[in-house]
Amino acid sequence: MTRPHVLIAGAGIAGPSLAWWLSRRGWRITLVERAPALRTGGQAVDFRGPVHRAVLERMGLWEAIHERRTRLGTQAFVDASGRTLAEVPALMMSGDVELQRGDLCQLLHERTREQVDYRFGDSPTALHETPEGVEVEFEQHAPQRFDLVVGADGLRSNVRSRAFGEEEGHLKHHGFRVVGCTLPNVLGLRRQGVIYSEPGRGVCVTSARSEDEARALFVFTGAPLGFQERSQDLAREAVSAAFAGAGWETARLLEALRGAEDLYFDAISSVRIPRYSHGRVVLLGDAAWGGTLGGQGTPMAMVGAYVLAGELLANPGAHTRAFERFEARMRPYATRCQEGTSHVGGFFAPRTRAGLFLRNHIYRLLTTKPLERVFERIVTHAATGFVLPEYVDAFTPAEN
Ligand SMILES: Cc1cc2nc3c(=O)[nH]c(=O)nc-3n(C[C@H](O)[C@H](O)[C@H](O)COP(=O)(O)OP(=O)(O)OC[C@H]3O[C@@H](n4cnc5c(N)ncnc54)[C@H](O)[C@@H]3O)c2cc1C
Repeated sequence: MTRPHVLIAGAGIAGPSLAWWLSRRGWRITLVERAPALRTGGQAVDFRGPVHRAVLERMGLWEAIHERRTRLGTQAFVDASGRTLAEVPALMMSGDVELQRGDLCQLLHERTREQVDYRFGDSPTALHETPEGVEVEFEQHAPQRFDLVVGADGLRSNVRSRAFGEEEGHLKHHGFRVVGCTLPNVLGLRRQGVIYSEPGRGVCVTSARSEDEARALFVFTGAPLGFQERSQDLAREAVSAAFAGAGWETARLLEALRGAEDLYFDAISSVRIPRYSHGRVVLLGDAAWGGTLGGQGTPMAMVGAYVLAGELLANPGAHTRAFERFEARMRPYATRCQEGTSHVGGFFAPRTRAGLFLRNHIYRLLTTKPLERVFERIVTHAATGFVLPEYVDAFTPAEN
């Protein structure tokens, strides 16, 4: 039997994870990434509960991820004088294990680059489905036919708009914007984080691997953003305007922000699509169920890659059935996890004084000893609410 040839768009987390599973079974994988090199930016991402852990263990990544963990401790809500109002335990913000997104991205690339045909600096420009496959045109490479196409190209998926129509209707805006970046460690943080909020604006600063650096996340109310409006300069301007006159250490952080070079700027929104697949094209990770922040995008991308690979391998030559089963399994789980994105803006930047008071009060209560277990359940229930299929036969590696 000829080995299926799959095009995956996007070398973030979902794409390389799927490539790892399928290439082990001898499938031919071409992975096209728009950026000229691996995009290793981003803040920390975390894994929590037995479902995430099982997928990492089955991929042989558990140890490697632990070696790279951030070891971040508690994060404190502080008032304008720096006084701690409530302390949030590491489990809520950093899960069971947390690492920098870039470290994970690099790890997945290292584990797949020998067996996967990576093409950086290119992107699909047209998809034409025929009974035999999908004819794909590219910006750089010559057109080529693939058996299947996977859109693992993130929140603003190009594959999604080509296969399903234009993007606007697929993104639901939640009323906030976010800017993330690395700053000098002006607050002198060591394995800890602080969150300062005023109505409609909040900043979270955490220590980084290097003691000289810190990671900052500025969250503030705002309208959706077009593609052209997300540049680094516009990000700096937007934060400066949104945080003008804010208290605590904000002025020092804004000063430090001027020199930041890795600014990430987006509106907080989440993907809403009626189906994950269309013919021979399927969406995975953020492209299918993503949220800008707070939706467990990284572990969900890896669980999703495991399930999609399992269904494709367990249903040889029957991609329609595989895609249906993939969606039936993943949609309820992904939709529940995605809910985090609609609340994350209000967590960092409650809109009103009353909301701010309530948030601090609730976290003070929830983090007391008697409510420890309740709190643990609240912060892990979405992640653990899934029964991971086994696919034992399907995943037995192919003999050469
Ligand atoms: C640079 C960056 C920084 C991030 N920082 C954070 C963070 O700090 N915290 C957090 O929770 N999440 C962050 N994310 C999102 C997080 O990686 C995802 O939510 C999650 O890991 C799911 O991964 P994904 O592979 O589906 O999407 P992503 O990790 O977003 O990967 C999608 C990939 O597709 C590529 N791509 C886009 N368009 C095309 C195209 N037309 N053709 C080919 N390739 C294309 C992108 O360049 C990217 O490499 C970040 C993503 C990126 C790309």
